[in-house]
Amino acid sequence: MNPTNPKLRGRFAPTPSGEMHIGNAWTALLAWLQIRSGHGSFILRMEDIDKPRSKPHLARQILDDLRWLGIDWDEGPDVGGPYAPYTQSERLQHYEDALGKLQKQGALYTCFCSRADLLSAASAPHGLAAEGPAYPGTCRNLSPEERAAKAKLKQPSIRYRVGEEPVAFIDGVSGQHSFDPAATGDFIVKRADGMFSYQLAVVVDDAMMQVTHVLRGADLLDSTPRQIQLYQALGWEIPAFAHVPLF
Ligand code: GLU
Repeated sequence: MNPTNPKLRGRFAPTPSGEMHIGNAWTALLAWLQIRSGHGSFILRMEDIDKPRSKPHLARQILDDLRWLGIDWDEGPDVGGPYAPYTQSERLQHYEDALGKLQKQGALYTCFCSRADLLSAASAPHGLAAEGPAYPGTCRNLSPEERAAKAKLKQPSIRYRVGEEPVAFIDGVSGQHSFDPAATGDFIVKRADGMFSYQLAVVVDDAMMQVTHVLRGADLLDSTPRQIQLYQALGWEIPAFAHVPLF
C-alpha cells in the first residue's frame, strides 16, 4: 500500500498470548479498513510486555494469520518503520522515561498493597468487571517515613494518582461518554515485579508512533479514561477512539 494521508495513522496491537480468533480478526479488519479507506498508515504492534504470558511462536503465527486474511501493514515488527521497534518488550526505556516525567509531576506513588501483585496489570483488562473493585487508595496518603519503612519489607508497585474531574470523550462508535475516575481509582503503571502496565505502555506507544485513530474492542472502553488521563499528564495529543462491538 502507499499511504498518502499523514494525518491518519491507526494500528492493530495484538497480545501474543493466544491464537488469533474471529474476535480479534474482526477488530483487525475494521481497524485496517478505517485506515486503508482514508489512505493512512497502518501499524502492527506486538504487545508482549507481559513476558510470561507471551509466546514468540504465537507472535509469528499472528502475523501469518493476518497476512492470510489479506491484512497488510506499513510499519511493524517484521517490516520496521520510523518509530521502531514495534515490539513492546523492546521499548522498555520509553516506558521508564514516561514514568520519570510523571514522577516529577508528583503524579505517582508507591503502593504496598498485596492486591497489586495479584493483578495482572500488564495485560489489557477486558472490561471493568474483570478488574475487581476500584483501588480504595490505601497507600495514597502515606507519609514519606511510612513509605520508607514499608519499602524495607516489600517491593512496591507504582500507581498513577487519578484526578477528580470526570473524563469525557466521544467514541467513534458509541458516542459521548463520561467516566468518573473513582470507578477504577488510582491505577498501576508499574508492577512490583518491575513489569510496566498495559495502560502506560499503550499510551506511550500510541503517542510515540503518532497514532491518530485507536480502534479496538468495546471491552477496552473502560481503559480509555485512564489512558486519556495519561495523555493529558504527559502533554500528548489524544487520538480519536472507536470501540467496536465484540464479535
Ligand atoms: N493488546 C491489547 C489486547 O490484545 C489491545 C490493546 C489496544 O488495542 O489498546 O487486548
